[in-house]
Amino acid sequence: MAKVIIIGAGGVGRVVAHKCAQVPEVFSDILLASRTESKCKEIAQSIPNRTIKTAQIDAENVSEMVTLFNSYKPDIVINVALPYQDLFIMDACLEAGVHYLDTANYEPKNEAKFEYSWQWAYADKFKEKNLTAILGCGFDPGQTQIYTAYAAKHYFDEMHYLDIVDCNGGDHGKAFATNFNPEINIREITQKGKFWKNGDWVETEPHEIMVPLKYPNIGVRNSYVMYHEELESLVKNFPTLKQARFWMTFGDEYLTHLRVIQNIGMASIEPILYKGVEIVPLQFLKETLPKPETLGENYTGKTSIGCRIKGIKDGKEKTFYIWNNCSHQAAYNETGAQGVSYTTGVPAMLGALMLLTDKWKKPGVFNVEEFDPDPFMEKIGSYGLPWQIEENIDLELPY
Ligand code: NDP
Repeated sequence: MAKVIIIGAGGVGRVVAHKCAQVPEVFSDILLASRTESKCKEIAQSIPNRTIKTAQIDAENVSEMVTLFNSYKPDIVINVALPYQDLFIMDACLEAGVHYLDTANYEPKNEAKFEYSWQWAYADKFKEKNLTAILGCGFDPGQTQIYTAYAAKHYFDEMHYLDIVDCNGGDHGKAFATNFNPEINIREITQKGKFWKNGDWVETEPHEIMVPLKYPNIGVRNSYVMYHEELESLVKNFPTLKQARFWMTFGDEYLTHLRVIQNIGMASIEPILYKGVEIVPLQFLKETLPKPETLGENYTGKTSIGCRIKGIKDGKEKTFYIWNNCSHQAAYNETGAQGVSYTTGVPAMLGALMLLTDKWKKPGVFNVEEFDPDPFMEKIGSYGLPWQIEENIDLELPY
């Protein structure tokens, strides 16, 4: 029996609230807090048979959060606001003595750069307070690292090549929309690509490397190498990896829109003056694009995210593929959110459950692959994200 505060009432917050509500034996009290309380209330009302409390909070105001945490006395805070708020929420957790979990690593607002250094630097502070911080417990980051840890534990003596493959085979019927916060998404996708090779990072131009890959229950999709945050912790925690890459699928139409957005300056995060008011073009664009939480209703198709791994077992080379397919429609029918929010929110709930049931509790700041993957893998299927494995198949990747 534990009390949880969920911060952020977007698509992911909706799923986390629904999934926590489905497990009353662990999450006995739930408070959903966000910048706009009306969104929290709307989500709370969409959840049958549970009372979800709500609150207005500015997650960049540490003292405001400490006051809320001290009055509600949560056991854990699940941060599904934006990456900009991570450090503020971690500070508030330290001050109020609360465990912490998020799904995306910290990014400063004025620089499109994400790395773990800022949050790893909190390790001693969490240790001293005997608190646990779990970083990046969505799908990717999150489930993909747990898949990797599971493969390392049960299927390989040494892993050498890791390819995380992320395909959204869904169709939301819009000309252009992003599946999660547009500002964060466009910052991520327009960055240069980067992958790990033989002990160093290799940088590429954005979308420079493309191969068509076949995804289970979806088909062949053009897949592009891009940088993704979990690579940073995976190559540190699995030092036998000679190469680690992240691939994401994009349609031609999506990339054309993205190119135009960049060419006309709308992806810029440099403030400009418009009629005497300072605006950030990308933040303005976000307001004109479809809200990710509105995409669910007509979303068809599935996501397929997984890990393709090559390495050694019992002296022989082996290949391994582990993945989940998630249906946008099924996610929407259950929670009112599309598949990308669903695949993020379910691992976040289960990561919190792991901590609250002492399976993943140790003082400090950790990425998810640093915990035992078995108790998580035992449960994730029954909470909505079952996985499949194929061994010794052609992984279709250039090495
Ligand atoms: P949304 O933009 O839909 O929701 C973000 C929510 O955070 C909104 O409700 C917003 O409030 C709230 N918020 C923003 N700033 C503040 C603040 N200062 N104080 C309080 N609340 C604030 O995003 P998503 O739900 O799509 O994504 C949530 C998180 O999940 C993001 O960090 C994203 O990067 C991460 N993510 C992780 C994935 C993974 O697999 N690991 C995949 C997809 C997303 P308001 O409603 O007022 O705008």
